[in-house]
Amino acid sequence: MNEQTLAIHAGYEKDAMGTMAVPLYMTTAYEFRDTEHAANLFALKELGNIYTRLMNPTTDVFEKRFAALEGGVAAIGTASGMAAIFYAIANVAEAGDNIIVAKQVYGGTTTLTGHTIKRFGIETRYFDVRNPSEIENLVDDRTKIILFESITNPSIDVADFDAIVAIANKHNILTCVDNTVATPILCKPFEYGVDITVHSASKYTTGQGLAIGGVIVERHNLVEKIKGNARYAHFNEPDESYHGLIYSELPLPLFTLRVRLALLRDLGAAPSPFNSWLYIQGIETLPLRMKQHSSSALAIAEFLEAHPKVAKVNYPGLKSDVNYELGQKYFKGGHSGLLSFEVEDKETAQKIADSTDIFSLVVNIGDSKSIITHPASTTHQQLSAQELIDAGVPGGLVRLSVGIEDTQDLIDDLTKALG
Ligand code: PLP
Repeated sequence: MNEQTLAIHAGYEKDAMGTMAVPLYMTTAYEFRDTEHAANLFALKELGNIYTRLMNPTTDVFEKRFAALEGGVAAIGTASGMAAIFYAIANVAEAGDNIIVAKQVYGGTTTLTGHTIKRFGIETRYFDVRNPSEIENLVDDRTKIILFESITNPSIDVADFDAIVAIANKHNILTCVDNTVATPILCKPFEYGVDITVHSASKYTTGQGLAIGGVIVERHNLVEKIKGNARYAHFNEPDESYHGLIYSELPLPLFTLRVRLALLRDLGAAPSPFNSWLYIQGIETLPLRMKQHSSSALAIAEFLEAHPKVAKVNYPGLKSDVNYELGQKYFKGGHSGLLSFEVEDKETAQKIADSTDIFSLVVNIGDSKSIITHPASTTHQQLSAQELIDAGVPGGLVRLSVGIEDTQDLIDDLTKALG
């Protein structure tokens, strides 16, 4: 099936009522037929609903639909994109381990990896996404995962999947891509050998800035990389917290299953069924919206490139962009709605961000409504001067999340703001 059809139908089988729309199951718990049924569910002898912190029928449709679009085997919803990223790390790393992360990532991912998980005893080693060969010198036998963004936010670099995956596979290390900005419509990381993807569903998935959520997706046959791999002993040894279950021996997608059984059970950042239902509505139009976001962003990038007050535009769809070749190689159908441009200094950037009418000054991306952000004074404010440089966020950088309003109206708005 083509993705526009998957976006409308995947993961949903009509119930006895024949409801066309996916039902919203707002419930905390589910009645068991009898104690044997309950025991079988807890022992995974039978799969079914137990409690909404672990699973929910509406969330299940969202997960199956998202996995189908991404080309993965299974997905698991979380309460936010940050929870998805944290769980992807916590599912493999513990105190004494290290992870390797691209310098150019979302500010929240920088603070999570550089500060919060450090307090859990997990070390983060950073590499420049523009120079993936740096990874080789960072790897040791306690390295558990390599994390990077397919299109980086906000520096708008495109990751060289082949180069990163080759080093990871040489050392049998899992790779995890934050595919939020690209979405499964424009980029399919599993086709390039990536093992796990994470997304903030708060962005293009809802498409209308309606709800915070996240999702983790697992590729087909991941067990082959994990089974017997000494780096991932806890997938290969009995889990004492789940009566001796060995994840790598189950006929089920093991990474997402462990997030569900161990991390959602114990840490609990589960999505609200209502939010899952909103994501399902959003996904129906995701392929259509991504085409419009991408074509409008390209037109705006070309307009900005020709503007005398703009020193530099970062957008992989531009032929002049340093990421153009990688964008052509790994993306299909466009390069999403995120772009950034540099003006003379911080004050000029702030003035532009304060002067638009249609672009709203908001710290979000991936909304149908266009957004303008000044990262140095907002999303990246907590970063040190060095972290700002590493993340590619100079004071004069303005970020746009191009929405799906009329393209010419957006260009007119920017023309006025640039003065
Ligand atoms: N990943 C990327 C690329 C993001 O841009 C964001 C938020 O802006 C996140 C993750 C975090 O997602 P959430 O806000 O849903 O926790």
